Amino acid sequence: MQKYDVVVAGGSISGLAAAREIATSGASVVVLEEDAEIGTPEHCGGLVSLGGIEDLGIVPDQSAIENQKIKSARIMSPSGSFEIGAEKQKVMVLDRRALDKQVAFQAQRKGAEIRVRCSMRSAEKTDDGFTVKTSEGEITCRYFVDARGVASIISRNREGVLQSAQYEVYAPWIDRSTIEVAFDNDLYPGFFAWIIPTGQGMGKVGVAGKGINAANSLASYIESKGGRYSIVRKVFAPIWVDGPIQNFISGKSVIIGDAAGQSKPTTAGGIYTCGMGGVYAGQAIGKAIKNKDDSILGEYEKNWLDLFKSEFDKMLLARRLLERLDNKAIDELFAAIPHEKIEEASATGDFDFHSAAIAKILGAKAAAKMVKAILGNEIRRLIDI
Ligand SMILES: Cc1cc2nc3c(=O)[nH]c(=O)nc-3n(C[C@H](O)[C@H](O)[C@H](O)COP(=O)(O)OP(=O)(O)OC[C@H]3O[C@@H](n4cnc5c(N)ncnc54)[C@H](O)[C@@H]3O)c2cc1C
Repeated sequence: MQKYDVVVAGGSISGLAAAREIATSGASVVVLEEDAEIGTPEHCGGLVSLGGIEDLGIVPDQSAIENQKIKSARIMSPSGSFEIGAEKQKVMVLDRRALDKQVAFQAQRKGAEIRVRCSMRSAEKTDDGFTVKTSEGEITCRYFVDARGVASIISRNREGVLQSAQYEVYAPWIDRSTIEVAFDNDLYPGFFAWIIPTGQGMGKVGVAGKGINAANSLASYIESKGGRYSIVRKVFAPIWVDGPIQNFISGKSVIIGDAAGQSKPTTAGGIYTCGMGGVYAGQAIGKAIKNKDDSILGEYEKNWLDLFKSEFDKMLLARRLLERLDNKAIDELFAAIPHEKIEEASATGDFDFHSAAIAKILGAKAAAKMVKAILGNEIRRLIDI
């Protein structure tokens, strides 16, 4: 039987980042990816901050960068809109097919082995680790990492899942420098529609929402733009917006990335936050193996929570607010936001820790009054009033 120190199930950003760190520590690690190609099928907008991607230890290859010219985000309510500057946040759009392959290459160079079209079927505990059953036979390992994405978390809990659709669209109404986020709680309950431009006249256009038919909702969003367009790719995927699961670690088994609920509850963005789950878990596993001390695994959970817990708590609160607003309230809230608050948020906002910008915008007097009526005293956890 084949033997490794660690088996990682799932060869996407979190699993590959973990494998890179484990291999860097000198331990043996294999990544099992059920799809036939790393990064494919791509199910991601690829929107990420430069700072976030650097923290993951990646300098994106030129081939992975689809758009570095994002200047602003247009945030729309059913009948209003405002524009927030995004230059300071240094956001870029990456091609996940290329990005994931880049991390796979990093991991391989450090000594990790990657297998595609190899599905993990079960991981059964043994006296000193696991027997992992795969589509290509059995592997024994000391540590098992679940990086299987939303599919893994859904098998345990369906509550925090939204349906999404994202199409690659060619259309003259896509502006290379502007992201669009459109709120409408009738059409996209609890979420929004979006445009992530990859170039002038081309981009990734998507919707997500609770209980929606994502294909129908996206079709009407695209139609609402008017004019001609072509759809050149369609992707349907669930997203998780309910925050992190309770325990990332159980014995010698570790859960990372979307499988651990590590994507942002506001936007479902997970390249950075899930990737950091992989980085921290890989480092902790490497250290635990070296020191023969499983208690070191706890460093993974601690490091991730230290970095993201308070931000995710605030994002969850912002999500709860959105879920309770009807379209009239969204319009009123938008109308209550003064221009100077938007300028402040543009100047100081952080793409990865955006609850401060949300708090700034909602903290404007009239807006805060509305938010307080909805959130009651919980508002203090989001806004300083
Ligand atoms: C429509 C959409 C748009 C998004 N846009 C953005 C964005 O713009 N910016 C951003 O930061 N995030 C975005 N995200 C979120 C981001 O894609 C995820 O958070 C991130 O990819 C999570 O990485 P992961 O490694 O945890 O899991 P995943 O990327 O989901 O990868 C899990 C991997 O495990 C594999 N797998 C599953 N089961 C098995 C098995 N049994 N055996 C072997 N392999 C298995 C899968 O094939 C997959 O490759 C978007 C998500 C969606 C759905």
